[in-house]
This record gives sequence, structure tokens and C-alpha cells, in this order.
Amino acid sequence: MSSITRDDVLKALSAVQDPDLHKDLVTLNMVKDIIINGNNISVTIELTTPSCPLTDKIKIDSYNALKASFPQAEKIDVKMGAKVLAHKNETKDSMLPGVKNTIAIASGKGGVGKSTVAVNLAIALAMDGAKVGLLDADVYGPSIPLMLGVKEQPEVIQQGGAQKLVPIENFKIKLMSIGFLVDDSTPVIWRGAMASGAIKQFMSDVAWGDLDYLIYDLPPGTGDIQLTLAQTIPLTGAVIVTTPQEVSLIDARKGLKMFERVNVPTLGLIENMSYFIAPDTGKRYDIFGKGGGEKLAGELKVPFLGGIPINTKIREGGDSGKPFVFEYPDAEESKIIRGIARNLAAQVSIKNANLKQPKIEISI
Ligand code: ADP
Repeated sequence: MSSITRDDVLKALSAVQDPDLHKDLVTLNMVKDIIINGNNISVTIELTTPSCPLTDKIKIDSYNALKASFPQAEKIDVKMGAKVLAHKNETKDSMLPGVKNTIAIASGKGGVGKSTVAVNLAIALAMDGAKVGLLDADVYGPSIPLMLGVKEQPEVIQQGGAQKLVPIENFKIKLMSIGFLVDDSTPVIWRGAMASGAIKQFMSDVAWGDLDYLIYDLPPGTGDIQLTLAQTIPLTGAVIVTTPQEVSLIDARKGLKMFERVNVPTLGLIENMSYFIAPDTGKRYDIFGKGGGEKLAGELKVPFLGGIPINTKIREGGDSGKPFVFEYPDAEESKIIRGIARNLAAQVSIKNANLKQPKIEISI
């Protein structure tokens, strides 16, 4: 039998599709490091995010395609790697040179768990291996330092002839918070103006380094402050957090419209406090109703990224500065949160690959 060539390997892998990006691995330039040693084949598939929800499927499909094409192969090794695609935008690139993507987390109203979701999503992405920053711009209640157990103030260093703030690192992510600049005694009416000025300054004054995702926690609501903040940094897209009940959904709809007005694509909708599982009986309670978030996402034609249940430990994690997903990585809710983070990363990849979003099937 003739020997296996690099072209043969590429041909075999051109039959494997990335199900999110709807193109084959060779066209997407994902096949790297092809090593052929006699009848042994080794390849690396470079995905568009380490949080790809389809990593296992793509790996198995690649293995099977190689096995089918080369029955004589003694060993087939498919390694998985990732390089996050960057959102292309000249303004962003000049403001945030090392930052590939900026994702705003917003909610139409307060108390839906937006900051909790932002913290846990950021950590979930970092747990998959992405470089993640979190910018807390919630002027009314900058709670993220507390949620991450951060008590110190950021350091100032000299870099390239300028003074830079060093983000504080905890739980694998880098944090900068408006709470470091606006203290509790600042009157609420000043906060918006101060915040948007400060956020703009953050852009050039924070030594973020290289980031795959910068998560940007906006204050709740859809007023002028939110609108101004949504425009202070060029965004890859926005995520809306809601709870299942009607009052929250009405405001989530407004949130979505706000981003539409400023031409920011919505990457998806997350329903928080979706349901409660009684720890003693295991019975599910739909405290705020059922399926509201998913239905709204369908109506507004944005991806539904998933629903996070209510769990006392999620609240305790926020209060004690020990984020749930990090403290309880094996809990069912952590699996759900990590799944949502991967769905979000997939939407970012789809957006950056400039491909049409796949049709979303809604089942209620
Ligand atoms: P927002 O940023 O929308 O104002 P927070 O993230 O501050 O909301 O959350 C409000 C409260 O709800 C906090 O005490 C938080 O710990 C709690 N919380 C948020 N999500 C959950 C959840 N899934 N389960 C239990 N408690 C939650």
C-alpha cells in the first residue's frame, strides 16, 4: 500500500464539518501540525475557542474520517487546540490592543443575577483555558470585587511612559471595577457621568495584556447611563440576563432594543433563577414560571444560551467571595453554567467568522 501523504490527510479531514461554522475543517484552516510517521498519523485541530461546545464531536468525527480513509493506520492521534477569533474593529483595536472580544452583560432590571452570571461565566471561560478579563461597570452597585473576594486596590505601574492600572487577578480572571474609583459615598447622580468617563479612561489606562474575552458588566436598566456605557467600548456583542417572569421579560425586551439601536448584536439570552430543585426531595419548582426566557429568545430571534437554576450556594458563593462555578466545579449547576459559557463562546466565534447564525430550534 502506498504511503500516506499530508494531502491525503487534508482530503480526509475536508469531509469533517464544524457544525457551528457550517464549513469543513480544512476550509476553516483548523488543521495544524500534521505528522505522518509510517502508518502513524498525528494532527492538531485548532478550534476557534477553547470553550467550543462541540470539541468532543469534532474530535471523534476527525478520528473517524482518518480511520475510514486510512484503514492501514496503526495509530491515529487527534489533538485539540484553540485560538480565539478576534472581533475586527479598528476603534476597538486601538483602544484595547490586546483584547480580542468584548462582551457586555446586561439586564433590563436589577436583581436578576446579572453580576452573578457575569462572574461565573467569566470564570467558566477561564476554566476552559481562555484568557479572560472582567470589567465591572455597574455604577449603582459595583459588587464584583466582593463576589471575587477582592479587598485590595489595583496597583499603578509605569508602562511605555504612561501610568497603568494593573487588574487584580483572582480565580484565573483579571478584574477591574468601577468600585475601585467610585466609593459608597458618591452621590448616585454623579455616578453615571463619572463612570462613563472612567470607563473610557480604563480603556487606555488598564494593563489588560492579552485577553480572549473581556466581559463587561453593565448597570441594570436601559436608561441613558446604560446606553452611554454600551457605547464607551466597541462591543463584539451583548448578552441579556433575565428571570422567567413577565415583568423581567418585558425589561429584557427593552434591553435588546437598546443594543439594536446602537448596532450591537445580541449574542444571546440567559435565563437566571430558572427553577429550584428542592435538595431534600429533588422535586423541581418553577418559582417564576417556566420557559419565559426561551420563548422570548425565540420571539426576538436571538440564541437562547441556557437557564441557570436557583441554588442557595450560588448566592452564598457571591456573598463569600468564592464563586460557585470555581468552588463546586462538579455540581450540576456548574455544568449548566459552563455549557452556557461554551454556547456564548460559540456565538462569538460564529459572529467573528462572519457567518450567518444557525437557525435556532425552540422547544417549549
Ligand atoms: P444583579 O446584578 O442583576 O443586580 P446580582 O448578581 O447581584 O443581581 O444577584 C442578586 C442576588 O441574587 C444576589 O444575592 C445573588 O447572590 C443572588 N443570585 C443570583 N443568581 C442566583 C441563583 N441562580 N441562585 C441563587 N441566588 C442567586
